[in-house]
Amino acid sequence: MYDSILVPTDGSEGASTAARHATNLAAVFDSEIHILSVVNASIYNSDLADLDFEAGEHREALEEHATEVVGALEDRLDGTGLAYRTAVEEGVPSEAIPAYAEDHDIDLISMGTHGRTGLDRLLVGSVTERVVRTSDVPVLTSRSAPDEQSSYDDILLPTDGSEAASAAIDHGIALADRYDATIHALSVVDLSALAGSYDGGAAVPGVIETLEEGSEQAVAEVAERCERHDVDVRTEVAQGTPYQAIGAYVEEGEIDLVAMGTHGRTGLDRYLLGIVTERIVRTSEIPVLTVR
Ligand code: ATP
Ligand code: MN
Repeated sequence: MYDSILVPTDGSEGASTAARHATNLAAVFDSEIHILSVVNASIYNSDLADLDFEAGEHREALEEHATEVVGALEDRLDGTGLAYRTAVEEGVPSEAIPAYAEDHDIDLISMGTHGRTGLDRLLVGSVTERVVRTSDVPVLTSRSAPDEQSSYDDILLPTDGSEAASAAIDHGIALADRYDATIHALSVVDLSALAGSYDGGAAVPGVIETLEEGSEQAVAEVAERCERHDVDVRTEVAQGTPYQAIGAYVEEGEIDLVAMGTHGRTGLDRYLLGIVTERIVRTSEIPVLTVR
């Protein structure tokens, strides 16, 4: 499933966190790790770069820094026996990272929610946010490092039964299979959407029941797929606002990882990321795997 895993690094704590998840996965999936640092070309390709000499100096310093931060992760991988390779590229990080992933047949990108340059008050750094929005390769975003020896024992698969949710389910099941984890299939009956369109919803007989049936069907489908792979599964249908209900489940269920699609049933394709997924990526304390 994950023959090659990309860890983009800016030398931050966030990238180091992402590297730990990547090494955890690489050990289990026997993957090769790619460490990539992007020298941000836009900084010296600006008008200011008229001052050729200074721009040149600046660029050299950036390149040096990129090589150093790649080296720092290299040092950590050296002792592990894992296969890895390194790259320093020039470009705009949020574009160069997905491009590198495409060019090198990367199966998974592991990124921190925060980097070196951002403000702590931002929920997710701009590079990670853009990569999640645009990458065709699945992205694992993490806010904190896994515990020593940790594995992903409980994996949450939120589903609205859509085709878009389905790809993430494959990934969740593949992970559960390798980690001998339990899948938690959760579908939320979206009462907030009802309130908007039906003036209370409950007043319309049968509407909630119909939605509930849809949710039951969605989790049953996940359960069936799990059983086919001999993976433990629990199912749950909740009511409420999807991202809140998913967040609450994560807190109660001792979940270690969430896997979800970049889109669901209700979103418009022109949005690069569904609102539920966006909110979970922004707020989750545990790693989130997003799959397009
Ligand atoms: P911002 O840059 O938006 O001010 P930030 O620095 O906190 O905020 P990001 O830049 O998005 O957040 O960093 C998040 C992750 O993105 C990092 O942990 C790292 O994995 C990756 N990253 C950021 N910049 C680079 C880069 N120049 N090269 C490679 N990876 C990068
Ligand atoms: Mn940054």
